[in-house]
Amino acid sequence: MVDKILFLDLCKELEKISKTTKRLEIQSILSQFFKIVKIKDPNSLSSIVFLCNASLYPEYLNTEMGIGEHIIQQAISEGTGLSVKTIKQKFVKSGDYGVIAMDNRVNQLFASKKLLTVEDVFNNMKRISFETGKNSTNSKKNLMLQLMNACSPLETKYLIRLFESQLKIGLALQTILISISLAYDESNFTIIKSAYNKHPDFNYLIEMLLVHGIEKLNIFCKITPGIPIKPMLAHPHKNLTKAFSKFENNKFLSEFKYDGERVQIHHFNGVTKVFSRNSEDMTEKFPDITSMFLSEKSFIIDAEGVAFSDGKIMPFQLLSTRKRKNVEKIEVAVCVFAFDIVFFDSKELLDMPLSERREILRSNFSEIESKFQFAIGYECNSVEDIETQFKNASEGNCEGVMLKSLTSTYQPSHRSNSWGKIKKDYLDAVGDSLDLVVVGAFYGKGKRTGNFGGFLLATYNDETTRFEPCCKIGTGFSDESLKLFYDQLSPKITSNPSQIDFNDKSIHPDVWILPHYVWEVKAASLSLSPIYSAGSREKGISLRFPRFLNERTDKKPEDATTSNQIWRMYNESVDEKSDDAEFN
Ligand code: AMP
Repeated sequence: MVDKILFLDLCKELEKISKTTKRLEIQSILSQFFKIVKIKDPNSLSSIVFLCNASLYPEYLNTEMGIGEHIIQQAISEGTGLSVKTIKQKFVKSGDYGVIAMDNRVNQLFASKKLLTVEDVFNNMKRISFETGKNSTNSKKNLMLQLMNACSPLETKYLIRLFESQLKIGLALQTILISISLAYDESNFTIIKSAYNKHPDFNYLIEMLLVHGIEKLNIFCKITPGIPIKPMLAHPHKNLTKAFSKFENNKFLSEFKYDGERVQIHHFNGVTKVFSRNSEDMTEKFPDITSMFLSEKSFIIDAEGVAFSDGKIMPFQLLSTRKRKNVEKIEVAVCVFAFDIVFFDSKELLDMPLSERREILRSNFSEIESKFQFAIGYECNSVEDIETQFKNASEGNCEGVMLKSLTSTYQPSHRSNSWGKIKKDYLDAVGDSLDLVVVGAFYGKGKRTGNFGGFLLATYNDETTRFEPCCKIGTGFSDESLKLFYDQLSPKITSNPSQIDFNDKSIHPDVWILPHYVWEVKAASLSLSPIYSAGSREKGISLRFPRFLNERTDKKPEDATTSNQIWRMYNESVDEKSDDAEFN
């Protein structure tokens, strides 16, 4: 009989991980554990990996557990005997439902129960997610209670956190993938990363690993139309000359940077699906895109969907007013600007150079005026060429240009040096605008009384999975936007800033806000400051004269500018200053 891995075994490892912030140590703990699971109970490896990621399904299925804060409070109340009011009060202090449940659970209930296996927990959590509809709150809560009653105190803590879909121990996806690699004695984790990027489903990944081994993974983890791949990303540049210097040794393209929504269009078996930048299924939002393709050949096209009217590109904000579901009447027309193709006629094209992928795109598809067009792009040979393209892009209502090496392969999820982006209003200020997460707010005074007058924004640290404040912002807001943000943010006020990294010297807002909203912000420059922690707890990077530009409703907090990126931008700006000093 196989030795089943217990949920308690997993919780003990998670607890060890919670005690360290060192990435190598976390990788070592996790990979050792995966190694044991691989030998003892390989069938539960996939569930364990999902639970380490605090998820049950691949992200692209958009299937959530559907457990709100209210049900968690109810379940804890019934499982501990505490009133919901007391739980709320305790939450204000500890900020952690997992710990509240652990500290107050009724121990004797546990005494007679048999130990839970990881599979028991995973399968029961899936059952909870299946409960939908009218009486689902009650049935979800009852299933949660059954699980809680079978848990020891430590298990209760992690069970509740799993209900919340966050483990809060600083375990990032990247670390999980590296640990899987290490469990296979493979220190180069490119194989695992590439396999996951092409087919982002732990279940499939682990099954292929167990059946075929790491050596053959690339044969079995292929791009599959219908399953979104993580899009390739670009590095920001703030200066045309500098950007040119990074590309001039290669043949490269300068392409319009359209200001809309990234759309990954999958066509297979006569069906078309559209996925967002975050792998969300957007098919229902774009019935006009899905009805456009009649091809018998399968393909995956990477493109930007842009609001379009009278032959002109409309502002991004207009597109965001389109409903996500049940779009019966199309009020905001969309034109797709295709810029890449990664799969065509059953063949993966990732390893082909961009020049060839473009050729396949352009020779197999035809433009449909105002509906499907190719992104405007030309090969450039000088800064002047880029300048001309930049000017044309601005005049054509685009937000700037992309530079792309024509020899580059398509690297899913990678912010590659072979793709650069230069936005319109870069040139006078910090290279890129930043996409920051609202983590705090300050009550308004004078004209702003009754609303928030300022906000605390943060970068995302993708290694610790926490948010690191980098500026206070009060500029760029209209009266209407301040009112809107007051209404939006008030329900997100929390007395528990556990996801936010700050120190004693850090700036404290009047209220903390749960990370949810992402805003695009521009600044005059970046500097080091002891009161902010972006990139470093002691002295982080901060934005000077930040100005609000837009809401980024297409980005989740985890897609915001990372702390590593802001460091890189800061270092580039310091380099530039010393270049300028040398020049003068
Ligand atoms: P950002 O969202 O500011 O990081 O800029 C990158 C985004 O620009 C991509 O994710 C696309 O949605 C968008 N984009 C617009 N035009 C292009 C293009 N020609 N090539 C690649 N990305 C583009």
